[in-house]
Parts: sequence; C-alpha cells; structure tokens
Amino acid sequence: MNIHEYQGKQLFRSAGVKVQDGVHCKSVKEALAAYDSLGSKVVAVKSQIHAGGRGKGNLYCPTSGDLLMEGGVKIAFSRDEVETYAENILGHILVTKQTGPAGKLVSNLYVEAGCEIAHEYYLALLVDREAKAVLIMASTEGGMDIEEVAENTPEAIHKIWVDPQADLLESQKRKLGMALGLSGAALKDFLGMIGSLYDLFVSNDCSMVEINPLVRTKSDEMVALDAKVSFDENASFRHTDWGELRDLSEEEPTETRAKEAGLSYVKLDGDIGCLVNGAGLAMASMDVIKLYGGEPANFLDIGGGANKESITTAFGIILEDPNVEGILVNIFGGIIRCDMVARSIIDASREVGLSVPLVVRFSGTNHVEGRTVLEESSLEVTTVSTLAEGAEAIVAALEGAKA
Ligand code: ADP
Ligand code: MG
Repeated sequence: MNIHEYQGKQLFRSAGVKVQDGVHCKSVKEALAAYDSLGSKVVAVKSQIHAGGRGKGNLYCPTSGDLLMEGGVKIAFSRDEVETYAENILGHILVTKQTGPAGKLVSNLYVEAGCEIAHEYYLALLVDREAKAVLIMASTEGGMDIEEVAENTPEAIHKIWVDPQADLLESQKRKLGMALGLSGAALKDFLGMIGSLYDLFVSNDCSMVEINPLVRTKSDEMVALDAKVSFDENASFRHTDWGELRDLSEEEPTETRAKEAGLSYVKLDGDIGCLVNGAGLAMASMDVIKLYGGEPANFLDIGGGANKESITTAFGIILEDPNVEGILVNIFGGIIRCDMVARSIIDASREVGLSVPLVVRFSGTNHVEGRTVLEESSLEVTTVSTLAEGAEAIVAALEGAKA
C-alpha cells in the first residue's frame, strides 16, 4: 500500500526526520491560504499522486488533452505563481515516466516551504528478501535521474544490510555517512536521521521508504525533500490507522473490489481466467496451465471463507478482462464444500452471463456432489478430476475455439 508524499512527510515529522513546513491542499484557495500561512517567499507547489517522476512530468487537460504545463513540481516565487501552478495542477492529468501514457488525475496538492539546496542525495530503505535484511541504499547522485545512475554507475550507490535482530549499528550509519562524504553538522544530522528512519521503517511495517532527494541545505542541515513510503499489507491487521491514509482513487479499482470481497486478485496478460482457493494452489494452477501451453489471465485466490457473493464477484472480475477466453476453476474442498461452490458457479454464471468455455476441477470435501450438481445443471461445463486434466481441457477448448 502506497501513501502520498504529504502523508509520508507527516510520518517523518513525527519520527524526528527533518522536513520543510508544508500544507496539504485540495483547492487553489487552500493553496493560496497555505502560501500565506507558510511565511516563506519561495515555495514548492507539488502534485500529489502515487507515482514518481512528477518533477519531469507534464500536465494535460482531461477534456481537450492540451498540454497545460511542463513539470508537476514547481517552484513559485510569488503568490501569483502559486495560483497559476495550483490552477494548472488541480483537476488535471499528470503524465510521468511512472504513470504510463494515461497519467493520473491530480486531486491533491502539497505546498511546501522552499529549500535552499546545496546538494541532492538519494536514500532508500527496503526489504531485501533474499538477504532477510533491511537494505539501506544511499548515493551522492540524488535528484531526478537516479534510475540512470543505478543503470550506468551502480558503484555510485552505497549499500548496507541491517540484520533485524541486531538493529542498525553505529558503525553502519557512519560508514554510509562517510560514503556520502558528509562531515560536521550534516554528518551528525544524517546519523540521527537514518536511525529514526530505520525505527520508522520497522515500527510501521514498511516495505519501502525512498527519499529522493535527501538534501544538504546551505546551512548544512539534512532535509527529506521527497517522501515515498509503502507499507507491507500483510501487517495491516496491526495498523488500524492505515485506513485513513489509504487513497482508493489511486488504486486499481478491480483489485480494490476484489480485496473488499476477500479475494486476492492480480491481473496478468494471458487469456485463461483462473478461480482457485488457496494462494499455493493458485500458483500451481498457473504453472500447470503454462505447462500445457496456455497463459493465465490472472491470479485469483478466493480464500477460505468464500461464499456465493464472493464467487460471483470473482467471476465478474475475471470476465471483465476482455482478454479472457476461457475459465479454469480449481477447488480443493477443505472447510469450503465443493457442492456450495458448484451452486455458486451456476448462479454466478447466470448473473454475469458466462460466454466462454468453463472447466471445473473439484477435489476434497463433497467433490462428488459438486460434480453432480454441475453435470445435472444446464450450464455448459467440462468437469475433470485432476489439475493436469483441467489445464489440458481449458487449453484445448481455447484452441478449439480459435481453430
Ligand atoms: P519527483 O521525484 O516526483 O519528481 P520531488 O519531490 O523529488 O518529485 O521534486 C522534484 C524536484 O523538485 C526535487 O529534486 C527538488 O530539486 C525540487 N524540490 C522539491 N521540493 C522542493 C522544495 N521544498 N524546495 C526546493 N526544491 C524542491
Ligand atoms: Mg523525488
């Protein structure tokens, strides 16, 4: 789960990581009031979307498609400029390298006190699964072109791995600070800052915190000028506050709907829709489909608590994808009963108007009853008893349809 820069900076502020004063705004009027309240002649007017590269992005009118302004992060030197920039940003489409050509509608703005930058650095904390550690990366080559630095001069990115049981060591902090060539007040600031950031990362169950740029100011302070924070959703049960940080308009609507119905859905590029219970079984189903020469259109785990409603939602979501030309249902009945799933499939197919070949494999609790329910119904469905047969049948059905 991602949050906006202004929310990330609020977390930084509470954790003692230095940020500029700033105000979250939703209208031009609020942006002007923010400018008046900040008491800084120079301010940054920053589009808030869940994607990076805003500085080098372009703003377009959603109706005419006309280019309104270059740059989704603007430095304003007067109240009038704040007004112009806020007008060009709010309610318009920002296209950056990370949004794709469709861009994102900007409904949130952050007006922040301007900062006198002496140098821009890059700093990021993320989970390195292979090393079972938190990886902290830093570079003197921060700013808007960090991807190119990583590509062309990877040696300019310094890394330390923090053993979660040992915590972040003083020697590691120092090593990173020295690698950035920091000294004096800036080094002291940096050492305190990465300690606070590491604590913030762990206590908030983050999967990533990226600060690009982290800047050294002309008065030798270290300030986080950007903030990209992502949480690990597996820990959502212990963070009741995440609900209000969530901006659903920034998330994939299908995935949100799936989540609300208790389903885990990830869209893929193939043409065989999959409806499976259990993440492991869903992965295995995708593998076996590929083994038989097919391409899965999605990962979908209906979970252990599936019922008629969630199965109908699942069918609907699968069929909304225009690439889907067939569906494989693979259910291992444990707590979930195959006959209940069979009845739900029949109802759901009627409701959503199933028009593509359907192959169903049941195993476990009430699988015989489940198959009978399907076979006795008027639904056009192929029932099989193993996953291999299921994959083979759905791939063959698609080939038959294409021939
Ligand atoms: P993005 O990474 O999406 O392009 P940033 O927040 O990094 O957005 O802003 C882009 C650039 O704008 C930064 O690299 C920095 O040079 C400048 N900038 C951002 N905020 C401020 C600020 N408060 N004061 C001065 N310059 C800023
Ligand atoms: Mg940035």
